[in-house]
Amino acid sequence: MCGIVGYIGYEQAGPFLLDGLEKLEYRGYDSAGVCLNNGSELVVKKAKGKLEVLKKMTENGSTLSGTVGIGHTRWATHGEPSDVNAHPHLSESGRFAVVHNGIIENYQQLKEYLTAKGIEFRSMTDTEVIAQLIEYYYKGNLIDTVIKVLGKLEGSYALGVISKENPDEIIAVRKESPLIIGLGENENFIASDVTAILSKTRTIYRLENNEIAILNRDGVKIINTDKDEVIKQTETVEWDVSAAEKGGYEHFMFKEIMEQPKAIRDTISPRINNGRVILDEIKLTPEEIKQFNRINIIACGSAYHVGVVAKYIFEKMLRIPVEADLASEFRYRDPIINDKVLTIVISQSGETADTKEAMKEAQRRGSHVISIVNVVGSAIAIESDDVIYTWAGPETSVATTKAYSTQLAVIYLIALYFGDILGTIVSDEYSALVEKLEQLPDKVTEILDNKEKIQYLASKYFNSKDIFFIGRNIDYALSLEGSLKLKEISYIHSEAYAAGELKHGTISLIEQGTPVIALVTHEELIGKIVSNIEEVKTRGAEVMCIACDDHPEIANIAQTVFIPKVCDMLLPSLAVVPLQLFAYYVASLKGCDIDKPRNLAKSVTVE
Ligand code: GLU
Repeated sequence: MCGIVGYIGYEQAGPFLLDGLEKLEYRGYDSAGVCLNNGSELVVKKAKGKLEVLKKMTENGSTLSGTVGIGHTRWATHGEPSDVNAHPHLSESGRFAVVHNGIIENYQQLKEYLTAKGIEFRSMTDTEVIAQLIEYYYKGNLIDTVIKVLGKLEGSYALGVISKENPDEIIAVRKESPLIIGLGENENFIASDVTAILSKTRTIYRLENNEIAILNRDGVKIINTDKDEVIKQTETVEWDVSAAEKGGYEHFMFKEIMEQPKAIRDTISPRINNGRVILDEIKLTPEEIKQFNRINIIACGSAYHVGVVAKYIFEKMLRIPVEADLASEFRYRDPIINDKVLTIVISQSGETADTKEAMKEAQRRGSHVISIVNVVGSAIAIESDDVIYTWAGPETSVATTKAYSTQLAVIYLIALYFGDILGTIVSDEYSALVEKLEQLPDKVTEILDNKEKIQYLASKYFNSKDIFFIGRNIDYALSLEGSLKLKEISYIHSEAYAAGELKHGTISLIEQGTPVIALVTHEELIGKIVSNIEEVKTRGAEVMCIACDDHPEIANIAQTVFIPKVCDMLLPSLAVVPLQLFAYYVASLKGCDIDKPRNLAKSVTVE
């Protein structure tokens, strides 16, 4: 994971590097560091812990000297979070410094080789081998050396390299981990993500695998590993800078919860015209769509939970069997998949390594891949056969909210688009659904305007040891997300259970006072879930229900948060909002670091 940033120009690099790292901290935050060439040597400052520690150490970068530098915020894969394992890593004599995002899979062999040559390693990281290899092979030309070292590395990397002898140069390269180059006036930048450089420039290059960028103060040259120049188009980033900032809210997560009506509207509106869903992004012909006999959805974390919701929706509306698969499992089980199976992959960042590799596996086996991605131009977006972007804007909080909601919105659009082609949705139903879909943002706003009840419930239960979530059908899929959200940010143990399955084992965990959140929105199964609620109440559970406002009687069974009624297919978009708010308020009352929960990172670019 990790965030990389780099600066070369005529100004002092320190303050920019620290500011850039702050924007990237969502990618990793167990330690952070910078290295600047001060004219005579490479100076490294790094520290375990959040960026705050490094900021204090360097007075926000102002005590650092040099107009070229690289920085890193880490999510450790090799070597515990510590000062010494933090990046940048220096070569033995301190002439070369490297920041790295990714994993060097053959680092152990490389380390043994170099150690046998008498080179002493300081850290436990895989990254240090890169710095040591550069010094080992350096014969006066840094580019040639970096190309030679790349030939020795197996695994994934985005790298920023600076050297003592070349104070006018940053070398950047990537393979499978993201890296962009920002182009300014007499200053140029590298970063893992555009948010780090938006304050300076909107003109960028997206590096492709194995492209090497050579950044000077006055320009950037891109070459391939044969040293041929690569002519690339620049891109202009349209994102609004303020959208990537907190805008008065205490936490990004809360801001992003509140932005959901807009994000859903931005995702849906451009794709509905005169009551019809237009998905020009899907290049499949109606005949090709009709020949699929299965849909396979691949994702991780919350995006996987969107896939579980989608399974219920697609099977009901399209009458096609659907599998929702965890990307990390899919890859390695010799999946049965071919050109008759449509694959949908879902990833906010578009860089999720597990999802990306699973996607490639599906493609290798002949499956057409549609990706649902938030970050424009990201690897998954580029490499999938078709991409449907969620227009959620930048999502910074590690725990996703608006990306989840917009992914769901895209699922509805696909369901309607396919249902129309397959003839499984009749015309009256289609029009009614499109109309309700367009009303969704306003209904989400209604829930957000009435959040006090959820805040109250959170205040009642924030000290709990365990909290259970139950539901049936789509409500079960949603309970998975509610439970994950709570676990991620509040560290309260939680389980999500298909309500009918409780009695087959897990009900033994219910004791006097155990909080249980029951989702009671799926019309067809209300009678069934009510029985399950009674079962846990009988065993001492304190139940909170989320129900639609056309069932006021649910309040007689348990304390209830009501949401507006819409059709079953669209309900997940509404029912998830109280779950997000509940997790947020609980974590806030517990004083947790909501936007940067422990051990996690936003964009998981390692396997
Ligand atoms: N493997 C490197 C380390 O552990 C970088 C980790 C990453 O990119 O997440 O320091």
